[in-house]
Amino acid sequence: MNEQNIFIVRCGEVALKGMNKPYFERMLADRIRGRLKKIYTGAPLEVKRHEGLIFVRTDKSYDSEEIVKEVSKVFGVASISPAVEAETNLDKIGEAAVSYMLKLINERGVKTFKVEAKRADKNFPVKSPDIARIIGAKVLIGCKVLKVNVHNPDVLLFVDVRKDVSYIYDAKVSGFGGLPLGTNGRGMVLMSGGIDSPVAAWMMAKRGMMIEAVHFHSYPYTSERAQEKVEDLAKILAGYCGRFKLHTINLLPIQEQIVSNCPEEETTILVRRFMMRIAEKMAEKTGSYMLVTGENLGQVASQTAEALVVTDAAVKMPVMRPLIAMDKIDIMDKAKEIGTYDTSIMPYEDCCTVFLPKHPVTKPKLEKIIESESKLDVDGLVAAAVESAETINIFPE
Ligand code: ATP
Ligand code: MG
Repeated sequence: MNEQNIFIVRCGEVALKGMNKPYFERMLADRIRGRLKKIYTGAPLEVKRHEGLIFVRTDKSYDSEEIVKEVSKVFGVASISPAVEAETNLDKIGEAAVSYMLKLINERGVKTFKVEAKRADKNFPVKSPDIARIIGAKVLIGCKVLKVNVHNPDVLLFVDVRKDVSYIYDAKVSGFGGLPLGTNGRGMVLMSGGIDSPVAAWMMAKRGMMIEAVHFHSYPYTSERAQEKVEDLAKILAGYCGRFKLHTINLLPIQEQIVSNCPEEETTILVRRFMMRIAEKMAEKTGSYMLVTGENLGQVASQTAEALVVTDAAVKMPVMRPLIAMDKIDIMDKAKEIGTYDTSIMPYEDCCTVFLPKHPVTKPKLEKIIESESKLDVDGLVAAAVESAETINIFPE
């Protein structure tokens, strides 16, 4: 029965969706299918929903470890287990369990085990603890080297008894949970080359948001290498959320106007308000309707409560700040977990560090900022910046 590789995917929060559950499950199955099809173009592949789980079947020739790795990166996946199947009767399940364990003895030198059984089909006449005992006894007979260890077994063998077909597996590889991409709107991420904004993008995508990104540079003050770093970060993100658009815009003309016409200590907050306005206009053009930043309360002068209020007042679009209440150390841990950290810490200059004021205002007053902006052609500068945007498609590495 096992010329195929079989994987059981558990749906995490998607399973709590009540009436909308089929929609979320369908989206999740689509995302898994899409992800695998990109890697194995043209090869046979089945992704099916069944009784609250998603079953993936692939040709035996597929690399099982790679499939587990890829599927566990799909948002909405709680966990995945490579499994084998058996007809639902205790003899067949026993046979499959024995050959499963023989393989593990061979591959991993397993010496002890314990069986845990679950009866999804309540009509099955044997109760779960009895199924575990019966299958355990069959494994002991079939695999002479094995012993039972109930407290600390080398292998915890799960037997999932379902109506016609039952499943046997031992490993559960955790996914990230969250919700399938595309179930929660579209957002424009303001992405620097720092640690925070890639994590912010990832967190919103994990809640199902389709993302695109805008990056501001100050070329030639910022280098081409700094730009490549942002593209590298975007590629890592694309490994989770698929292809997306990265818009890059030179902010230098605006920065020069600000520096020559406005008070030095307001430079950062004024630049930030321009970034927000440009990002909003870009979003309107491309069908996004939220902005996403990596801002974090109190991290720097431009992220005090007062500064955030003044920043927000530049735009109408809601601004999502998923990192707002996190500690930097936790953001760094998250960046390490998702694989962006090493790229983020590469020392290339950001446009924000160009023209950095010595003493930035930490409690800007909106009226004063608006007065400073009255010396600038805000709309004209924003329109020119939007016009100058260069867009590239970012693909997973
Ligand atoms: P990060 O680590 O993401 O760079 P940060 O702590 O350095 O964040 P700031 O430089 O003040 O903080 O930026 C705050 C947020 O503004 C960033 O998280 C990002 O969303 C946005 N931002 C900053 N610089 C840029 C840029 N060059 N291009 C696009 N967005 C930017
Ligand atoms: Mg930054």
